Amino acid sequence: MEHIDIKTLDPASTVVVATGNLHKLEEISAMLAPQLPGMRFVALGQLGDFPEPDENGETFRDNALIKAEAAVAETGFAAIADDSGLMVDALGGEPGVHSARYCGRHGDDAANNEKLLANLADVPDAERTARFVSVIALVSRSGLVTVGQGTCEGVVGRTGRGEYGFGYDPLFLPADTPGKTMAELLPEEKNAISHRFHALQDLVRQLDGWTTA
Ligand code: IMP
Repeated sequence: MEHIDIKTLDPASTVVVATGNLHKLEEISAMLAPQLPGMRFVALGQLGDFPEPDENGETFRDNALIKAEAAVAETGFAAIADDSGLMVDALGGEPGVHSARYCGRHGDDAANNEKLLANLADVPDAERTARFVSVIALVSRSGLVTVGQGTCEGVVGRTGRGEYGFGYDPLFLPADTPGKTMAELLPEEKNAISHRFHALQDLVRQLDGWTTA
């Protein structure tokens, strides 16, 4: 990742994206740029090695805010962060905020998917409804908060299929793409229906007159 000298950035026209994921940086900048002309989007990791805050919130909103507010405190720039996960109705909304570490380890997608299938083994097809949820928080330098939220409805299948995406994508069949798992969609097809896309749209709708101050 290209390093940027923090001193060369103008606080009035910079937004820090608190993610290590360059795809998210691109997706977020592409959607927000038309609404925020002249704004430069940089990844937090491009400015230095900052400690990751504890994502110990009870909601996606809490965790998105924890990450965005930590980035504002660390850099002095406005910052944006997202938090997301899968909520399964038959499991009372789990894995929810625990999506990345459902199996007990952070980021082990295969083990997370295995645990999800095991917990749903006795749940009939009609009751396997679920949704991906994304919350994106934008925090100004003085702490003004704007939050966008989006969902992608679907069902959890019985076997994994598809090579694209990450996380629970192989098990999730979006209602918008009958018969296909999220992992069988091309990246641009997923981006057009995803929870993150809808959360960004929701955020963009609220940005009239927004400034980094
Ligand atoms: P994070 O918000 O990027 O930390 O994502 C949290 C966890 O939710 C990921 O590790 C995945 O398990 C799950 N998740 C979030 N978004 C997606 C998605 O688009 N597809 C599949 N899994 C997702």
